[in-house]
Amino acid sequence: MKLAVYGKGGIGKSTTSCNISVALAKRGKKVLQIGCDPKHDSTFTLTGFLIPTIIDTLESKGYHYEDVYPEDVIYRGYGGVDCVEAGGPPAGAGCGGYVVGETVKLLKELNAFDEYDVILFDVLGDVVCGGFAAPLNYADYCLIVTDNGFDALFAANRIAASVREKAKTRKLRLAGLIGNRTSKRDLIDKYVSAVPMPVIEVLPLIEDIRVSRVKGKTIFEMAESDPDLEPVCQYYLNIADELLARPEGIVPKDAQDRELFTLLSDF
Ligand code: ADP
Ligand code: MG
Repeated sequence: MKLAVYGKGGIGKSTTSCNISVALAKRGKKVLQIGCDPKHDSTFTLTGFLIPTIIDTLESKGYHYEDVYPEDVIYRGYGGVDCVEAGGPPAGAGCGGYVVGETVKLLKELNAFDEYDVILFDVLGDVVCGGFAAPLNYADYCLIVTDNGFDALFAANRIAASVREKAKTRKLRLAGLIGNRTSKRDLIDKYVSAVPMPVIEVLPLIEDIRVSRVKGKTIFEMAESDPDLEPVCQYYLNIADELLARPEGIVPKDAQDRELFTLLSDF
């Protein structure tokens, strides 16, 4: 199963991805997380250090794919989750889609792409140009992280539209929304009443989650020394269980931008 996690910048994609990956590993799955961000934030949280990016490694080997070994690019992270950092394109130049494409190509060369039970792409940003949509070319499911606000739901709708587009030519489904950092869900509910899709889980703002990221750890690692955090881990285990049940997923209908303004705003 291949999952691509999308959502507005800063909404909690990396935090959510890392914790879902560990939760899936706890359920006995062999998991690979692919970070696609120059900040390295997801693979850093899992491995505790800045692993070299695929592009750095390829560059150092003169783009001779045959000279790259799995141990050059795949690093073992917390809970047995394997990590690859695609990295981002050079600032202001190049294309994130190219970087993701090279990463997948290399993993296929290494026979690593089909070896995992779950591959999770932690995708950067919310801007859905063709490049940012590249992981949707390889995923079976898209997961969208959103809060209960207009901006994140607007981004979610754009992502849903990309899923709908890609689903015309390949078997891609939207698994659903994860509400994050919000105790309210009225706008999320309004949105899914207009554009039906599953709401897999809604996590409130939890100070321990924020702290775990500052410490560069998943909540599961923190819970080893603080059993009070187990209920927080449970949110991610629930998401993992939903995903492992292989939800049918949906091909979303998307709302027109104008329709969203009327639906979600007071003006
Ligand atoms: P993204 O990858 O979407 O840019 P991050 O995962 O880096 O977002 O999250 C942004 C910030 O929000 C981080 O500092 C993270 O600790 C915090 N955060 C994410 N989810 C939660 C949550 N449920 N409760 C509290 N803080 C959170
Ligand atoms: Mg991120």
